[in-house]
Amino acid sequence: MQKTALVTGAARGIGLATTKLMLDRGWHVAMLDRDSDELEIASAGLHGATPFSCDVSIQSRVEETIPAILDKFGRLDAVVNNAGVAHFGPMENTDFQAWRTVMETNLDGVFLVSQATVPALKQTRGSIVNIASISGLRASTLRVAYGTSKAAVIHLTKQQAAELGEFGVRANCVCPGPVRTKLAMAVHSQDIIDAYHDAIPLNRYGSEQEIAEVIAFLCSEQASYVTGQIIASDGGFESTGIGLP
Ligand code: NAD
Repeated sequence: MQKTALVTGAARGIGLATTKLMLDRGWHVAMLDRDSDELEIASAGLHGATPFSCDVSIQSRVEETIPAILDKFGRLDAVVNNAGVAHFGPMENTDFQAWRTVMETNLDGVFLVSQATVPALKQTRGSIVNIASISGLRASTLRVAYGTSKAAVIHLTKQQAAELGEFGVRANCVCPGPVRTKLAMAVHSQDIIDAYHDAIPLNRYGSEQEIAEVIAFLCSEQASYVTGQIIASDGGFESTGIGLP
């Protein structure tokens, strides 16, 4: 039986790269995104992929969409909680609605999709991969909402690993460094880009494909004894002690 992965935020960026890699490795992929137009275009011609339009921050939409995915594929072996939004700003300049908007997608979305898919994952002894960020590992002056949401996702991953291990379900977290996606380039000024190049030991941004490789590994049988882990794919940035720009 062909394995099925659900990838959220699959219409572009890291989610689309993960979808393509998983398809190449023989998985079926349920591509979920709230941007239905971009999702249609991205999924066209991807054999084995099916698009599902859904906003992960809306509980009723998640509760309708997960059964539709299970109806289509009959099983779920991996859930990649990748959908995310960025926000730059220090605490004093971040209004509460902006804070809530970030939390609703980056944290509530991971909770809702995970909760809705766990019964199916228990049946296959499948796995969850949550996408956090180096911003969840390190504080910086500019990322109060984004960094806090991602730190919470890191902890949620550990909770999931603790809770679901007895059912054979694994949960891991990937913390990407900077990648030139729409999300990052909307908030990275040239100064920030230059600072990252200097601060990252490999002296460059990562690619979507490099992050997708780590995600696909964690979903695979090769990672069958890996759970509760927080893995930075960041060119060495997190381990060097240099502050975030
Ligand atoms: P992206 O903007 O290219 O793609 C994000 C996708 O998520 C989009 O297709 C968007 O429509 C979708 N999305 C956003 N909110 C959604 C919602 N509520 N419901 C459903 N879909 C939603 O961004 P990306 O850079 O590929 O980001 C993917 C993940 O990687 C995010 O969680 C992000 O925080 C994380 N990340 C990215 C970087 C980076 O530098 N690009 C670094 C660290 C972490």
